[in-house]
Amino acid sequence: MEVPLLDLKAQYKTIKDEVLAGISEVLDSQVCIGGPKVQELEQKIAAASDCRFGVGVSSGTDAILNCLMSLNIGPGDEVITTPFTFFATVGCIARVGAKPVLVDIDPKTYNIDPEQIETAVTRRTRAIIPVHLFGQMADMDPILGVASRYNLAVIEDAAQSITSTYKGKKAGSLGAAGCFSFFPSKNLGGIGDGGMVVTNDEALYKRLMLMRNHGAEPKYYHKFVGANFRLDPIQAVALLVKLPHLNDWSEARRRNAAYYDKRFAGSVVQTPYISPDCVTIYNQYCIRVPRRDEVIAHLKANKIGCEVYYPVPLHMQECFSYLGCSEGDFPHSEKASDEIMALPIYPELTDEMKNAVADCVLNFLR
Ligand SMILES: *Cc1c(COP(=O)(O)O)cnc(C)c1O
Repeated sequence: MEVPLLDLKAQYKTIKDEVLAGISEVLDSQVCIGGPKVQELEQKIAAASDCRFGVGVSSGTDAILNCLMSLNIGPGDEVITTPFTFFATVGCIARVGAKPVLVDIDPKTYNIDPEQIETAVTRRTRAIIPVHLFGQMADMDPILGVASRYNLAVIEDAAQSITSTYKGKKAGSLGAAGCFSFFPSKNLGGIGDGGMVVTNDEALYKRLMLMRNHGAEPKYYHKFVGANFRLDPIQAVALLVKLPHLNDWSEARRRNAAYYDKRFAGSVVQTPYISPDCVTIYNQYCIRVPRRDEVIAHLKANKIGCEVYYPVPLHMQECFSYLGCSEGDFPHSEKASDEIMALPIYPELTDEMKNAVADCVLNFLR
């Protein structure tokens, strides 16, 4: 049986008419940038995240970039984050001219290890970017503790964790700002690129709003150098159709995960560890297995989708060689890169599909 890693068509089928009607409304209005649909989405995503403000932006990457620029972080500054994340987290720090300072992960959750953050703080440190990887939030209390002791901003990279919780608090609501991505493969995916910053800080909100539009206030009078980080209403209408379904879709992902957990119990497959403090939205269901690359080849030969997030930790990327890191510096991240693989977890998976995935993994490792 063929099972793709993700099937966007299966979800689109269930909402197609509403999405097309929304797009048609936007086209009839010819409000092609910003406008009421973007504002409605900002309010609804902020509310869903227990935040006061939302700023629609052009991607998850630009959400992070906008936060760093709005907090005035640049050359001479240091920002602490994890090497086990999507490129954008570290890429944005480098792009504003600041120095990425990496801290290894907790091997159980794959999120930044809070205990190792304090030793990485210097007089130049300005911010910490915890990444809520695969749908589960990082251990925020100790991170917020270090941040308040050293007066650092916390920017949550919640690109994979919209509406997930830590001790009952929503992703994006704990730091100075939270960043979401609407990349189509995220739990709330648009029909192109998009993203959002949420915050409870009104002054920061105002800067984020100006920064996404070249720092102009009023039009053609520029207080500072921003960029074009604007979100299109075409994305907003598609996301407004999807948002009411998000909790059901996350619940379906959790049911799928519970099924896999049960099937893999007692085997050599190491299933995801979810902290009792967290409710995850399973953007990915990542297992660790022995002979990982052979397992992947076996799944691919049987038309079962799988992927490695992430095969190369960021300290080993060519573009960051200037940081002077070497192999062995972040052993938990490196080991995770060697052992991890993601299985199909999307909400529309059928029982037969899940069974086929679990059988295929277990038959090979038995
Ligand atoms: C997807 C992702 C981003 C970037 O989002 P884009 O919308 O693709 O720019 C940033 N950080 C993490 C952890 C992500 O998964």
